[in-house]
Amino acid sequence: MPSSSPLYIAVICFICLLGACGKPSSSTLNYAIGDANSTVGGVHGRFELSKAGLTDHFDQQTVCVEVGIDSISKANALFEVKLAFAVWLSAAGYGQEEFDSLLFLLKPKCFHKDNQYDTVVQFTSFKSEVSGEDLRGRFNQPTINCERNQLNATCTSPVLTLGWGGPGGLNFDRLHSGVIERNSISRSFPSWISLSPYIKWVSIDQNLAAEFNFQDAKKLEINNQLKSMSSESTWSFINLVKFSEMLASESLIFSGDPIFAAESEKFMASNQKYFHKNIQPVFGAYHTLLHELGHTFGLRHADNPVPGSITGQSRDTHWDETRGQYLTSRASMAYSDLFAFLTDDDQKGVRASVESLRNYFNSKP
Ligand SMILES: [Zn+2]
Repeated sequence: MPSSSPLYIAVICFICLLGACGKPSSSTLNYAIGDANSTVGGVHGRFELSKAGLTDHFDQQTVCVEVGIDSISKANALFEVKLAFAVWLSAAGYGQEEFDSLLFLLKPKCFHKDNQYDTVVQFTSFKSEVSGEDLRGRFNQPTINCERNQLNATCTSPVLTLGWGGPGGLNFDRLHSGVIERNSISRSFPSWISLSPYIKWVSIDQNLAAEFNFQDAKKLEINNQLKSMSSESTWSFINLVKFSEMLASESLIFSGDPIFAAESEKFMASNQKYFHKNIQPVFGAYHTLLHELGHTFGLRHADNPVPGSITGQSRDTHWDETRGQYLTSRASMAYSDLFAFLTDDDQKGVRASVESLRNYFNSKP
């Protein structure tokens, strides 16, 4: 009898910095976040510049949302982008005021480096690709590769990049000339989230409909709540946070892509020796939005923190002796389960990121 071990590794990718690991040198926790200098251009960095009275450039932030795909409606995409923003803002200690200062613009095309926006979110497709965007260089074609020998049969897929995200580029300096001091702020590019054009992205309700391991009563409750929020006028900060609390209280974690499993099963049931095919995996957009938006708030991967940083001291965090870091997989910011909510570790991390910016502005000479 052939045995099967389909291996499918779906990874949400962000540029990770490599370097030496070291035990935290002080009792202060350094969470898995980028340093303030590199995250000041993020959503929270722009808020904090305003709050510190250093500029009025960001009293309102503009978010360009490009929905160039057919698998998810523009309304659902916009809802989930706003939901993800509300969730991170709430976790970061912000509220209605900051949420209402965000202007979301649904556009057929948002340009990655367009400085008139503070954040760009792209549900992009090859149809809407523009010169210089190079989606094929940024994302990879998902494939399934199966092989059978006398003892077993296996199907594998290359590591898949689902999305990219990171804080914008912004330089903040205090210039001194005698007793006169002025602030210099120059923005070079917006925060950016881009979802792979190779994936069939679906909305939360479509995702739930395909969940087999989730109780019907819970699905129904979430779907009823979604239906009550079908009109944009109901997407207030408070309602969005309430809905996200429902997802968290249900500990909603989405299943992975069903396409790879279905193709693997077909191969296992066949007599074929080899099988290779390009596939279009199906994923819920919301988890990837949460993950990539977390990067724009300066967070790095909780299961693979940058050198010198650790993750939050949540229930599931463990000390890795070899790396000299605290790690956890229980985070939307880890390459792990497809969480539909922010875990304790995510929340502590984003608060630490905001705190690090406040210290940075206070200490900058
Ligand atoms: Zn990532």
